[in-house]
Amino acid sequence: MAASSSLCRVPVFRVSPLIIPAITLSHVLRPSVASLSTSSRMSCGPSQSQDGSGDHDNGRPSSSAIMTGSGRWRPMCLYHTQGKCTKVDDPIHMEQFNHDCKKDLRVCAAGVEYSGSQDMDYFLVLDLEGKVEILEYPVLIVDAKTLDVVDLFHRFVRPCQMSEQRINEYVEGKYGKLGVDRVWHDTAITFGDVIKQFEAWLSQNHLWNKELGGRLHRAAFVTCGNWDLKTKIPQQCKVSRIKLPPYFMEWINLKDVYLNFYHREARGMMSMMRQLNIQPLGSHHLGIDDTKNIARVLQRMLVDCAPMRITAWRNPRSPNSVQFAFEKRI
Ligand SMILES: [Zn+2]
Repeated sequence: MAASSSLCRVPVFRVSPLIIPAITLSHVLRPSVASLSTSSRMSCGPSQSQDGSGDHDNGRPSSSAIMTGSGRWRPMCLYHTQGKCTKVDDPIHMEQFNHDCKKDLRVCAAGVEYSGSQDMDYFLVLDLEGKVEILEYPVLIVDAKTLDVVDLFHRFVRPCQMSEQRINEYVEGKYGKLGVDRVWHDTAITFGDVIKQFEAWLSQNHLWNKELGGRLHRAAFVTCGNWDLKTKIPQQCKVSRIKLPPYFMEWINLKDVYLNFYHREARGMMSMMRQLNIQPLGSHHLGIDDTKNIARVLQRMLVDCAPMRITAWRNPRSPNSVQFAFEKRI
């Protein structure tokens, strides 16, 4: 299908062309931090605030100081993210839409030395959309050492237990106001097909091998809250009559890590971004944009040396029972 319908996509956040999205690590090069040896991770973290309160809004440059990059923000081509853009030869389309999932997520190489001893090699940032059935499944791979975005998987998902009329209303209500309902209709596939393609993508990225027990290899999902993997994925698997894949058995809830690292509560992605002075980009509740924004929070937390660890896991013998790592949770 032609990609022309995506031309009507409306960004909810009006981002000034002068506010550039990529996070740099320049703020870690403040004298007090820049003098740290590359291995002194114990020395960095929330206690580094100049007032000693652990509040990252104090004693740190504002977000404008940690933003760099070039060019204005543009919405992603949502055909391209799903491997279906037919307009790569159209200069107007290419100018209007971003075709590089890494563009808003570049991290200045100068401070990469301050990240890198995480338990995982890769983080799979995931933010599902769809309350009744899943409508969107976006995943970004973030390299734990370089903080670079390695790859993106993005699919719109067609509900399997709804009438056509109900799907139309559901999609119109969810995506109509964002101007992406047409691209949804052009591209959505069933959850079963999404999972097959997702597993092929994981294998290509050497993060998963069915023959080796089906768990992720040196990688973990990162979500904003527990809802995505604790509640929604098992529900959708049941509706789609799929056995819960073993890689959905554990995850990192970024809000729990945030609370226990900064000792400050954030109810959601927007509060974390507000508290960390990171400018939101794109359309809130468009899964691909939320995933990129969560990835930016993750990058910032890795720069701050927040230790990413599994915060929730299912009991293999009783998958409905979930245990949590932290006592203090959101
Ligand atoms: Zn395109």
